[in-house]
Amino acid sequence: MRPQALLALFLCAPLNWAQQPAQPAAKPKDPPDPIIGLVARLNLAAYKATVKGLTQFGDRRQGTERNRQALDWIEAQLKSYGCTNTERIKYDFQPPPPRTGAGGRGGAGGRGGAAAQSEIGPGGARRRGVREPESVNNDPMKQPDEKLRALDTPPSVAGEREEVYCTKVGTTHPEEMYIVAGHFDGIGYGEAANDDGSGTALVMELARVFSSPDVQTDRSIRFALWNNEETGLNGAKAYVTQRQALQGIEEPKGSGKYPEPKWLGMIQHDMMMFDHGMPRKDGSMSPVQRPEADVNIEYQITAKMAEEAMQLARKFQFANEKYATDYPANIGPHMTNTDSAPFQDIVPAISLRELERGAQIGNGWDPHHHQPTDVFTTFSDDDFRLGLNAAQTTLGAIAQLTGAKTGAPATGGN
Ligand SMILES: [Zn+2]
Repeated sequence: MRPQALLALFLCAPLNWAQQPAQPAAKPKDPPDPIIGLVARLNLAAYKATVKGLTQFGDRRQGTERNRQALDWIEAQLKSYGCTNTERIKYDFQPPPPRTGAGGRGGAGGRGGAAAQSEIGPGGARRRGVREPESVNNDPMKQPDEKLRALDTPPSVAGEREEVYCTKVGTTHPEEMYIVAGHFDGIGYGEAANDDGSGTALVMELARVFSSPDVQTDRSIRFALWNNEETGLNGAKAYVTQRQALQGIEEPKGSGKYPEPKWLGMIQHDMMMFDHGMPRKDGSMSPVQRPEADVNIEYQITAKMAEEAMQLARKFQFANEKYATDYPANIGPHMTNTDSAPFQDIVPAISLRELERGAQIGNGWDPHHHQPTDVFTTFSDDDFRLGLNAAQTTLGAIAQLTGAKTGAPATGGN
């Protein structure tokens, strides 16, 4: 700016200020954002306690007693939070005959043999940099904690499976909902603390906050904990198969009740805590969380609903900027190996993770993935805090999308 212009500004300014007070006070202050208060009801201690609660059932492998006990515990917790309308999905699971050769898909996809050599990873992600092989531990003897080893040893038995959901019913649009989900089964002979105790705890913590009697939402929210993710998304697929056609149907007629509200979006949470960066050239990993760790929001660019899913991902990124305390969020187009996949051609579907699934987890960035070291004590508060930030992100976004408010329930006549 030219000096004369600057001088002119100084000279003119007092005149303008002198004229202002004659006008009445401008617009009233914006009312405080109720979502800030809702997000503040999440905290690190509660999130950690919920993860810890889940780890008491070991790796929660599908088709075992420890998996069924975990499900009973989760359902009891949801009810205790006030999410009392729990329902279970039942389906039959018969494992496929063992495959020969390397590679694979579903919950265990994209590792080994030829797949590990390919530059294009699972979900279409381009894999760069130092790559460590990924594997699933199938040997109980690799678990050094004898008590945990004994808990995790009984094998999976084919047959009936169950999973659970509960629903926050919307006050003005109970016939529409967002699905907020994680998977409660695990593998690897650890405690499945991160995969996916961290995502299951996130969903449970959100159910706790939204179920508080002073919280209302215009639209409904379903909190779903899938089983059999690790065998190929079988639990989420069973839900789609059984319930897709029931969407938006009032039952009984005239009751105002919608057992399956119309799906507006599906948000999966799977592995929320560990972002220590790329493996070093010697294969070792940083023992601490990257200071610049982020929440990775992914959608699948080849899905029928890719454009809408991308827009949903942006809403989550903006909610992260507004509500998450420590870590930012980034968006990637290669969502894969996750329970949102069975939904991705039907509704906008995204997943939140600690890392991108294809390019990063698929390159060995999480050395605890499906390993005996996936136990509660492996993770520091900086790791748990990334999970908490993902919870803040989803809570903020879902509260915005469903019109969440706090205070006494509206009595009408306003
Ligand atoms: Zn998982």
